Amino acid sequence: MLLESQRREIIDYCLKMAAEDLTVGTSGNISVRVGDLVAITPSGVDYDVLTPELISVIDLDGTVVEGERKPSTEVPMHLLVYRETDATAVIHTHPVYATVVSTLVDETPCIHYMLALHGGPVRVAPYAPFGSDELAEHVRTAMVDRHAVLMQNHGATTWGDSLHSAFSRSLYLEWVCRVWVTARQIGDPRILSSDEMGVVMGKLGSYGK
Ligand code: 13P
Ligand code: ZN
Repeated sequence: MLLESQRREIIDYCLKMAAEDLTVGTSGNISVRVGDLVAITPSGVDYDVLTPELISVIDLDGTVVEGERKPSTEVPMHLLVYRETDATAVIHTHPVYATVVSTLVDETPCIHYMLALHGGPVRVAPYAPFGSDELAEHVRTAMVDRHAVLMQNHGATTWGDSLHSAFSRSLYLEWVCRVWVTARQIGDPRILSSDEMGVVMGKLGSYGK
């Protein structure tokens, strides 16, 4: 079986994504790139019944190389991220607070310095139907110099050099969005300046290393 360990790891992260309320039902999708191949979740399959055989393996043109099911409808967006960055893992989620924020602003206000983990304020890609080339194109514009995007009236996507880092960015992004939505319910929160964010961007490079 091609990419067996990566397919197993994708299933582990699908279960974590559901356990952390980063998505609902069969929404969301996860992929891992190894060289010219990408392992990606199948479309519309419940996470708790996933087996390695059900995870699709596609090439960088989106052609199915192995797998019993149709790959995720968001293949165009995952392949776009692999084309535009050196990421090896992509996670697309439908978390409540990030989705709420995607309907209100053009980018996440810098209410917390952990946005430095995403390369700064996360931009919102304008709405387009799920799985469309148009949506992937909007993501391409919004993702420049970032490790995450919000997708308007839809959800969020993060990436990194491992599923661990992409997942961590998904968790932090949802948390920052939750902090902002909560603060806005009470008042008009103070937002960090670009100078204040710049200081943290410098420091975060060595954080945890
Ligand atoms: P898939 O089940 O096809 O991966 O679609 C879920 C989704 O979130 C589409 O944006
Ligand atoms: Zn989606």
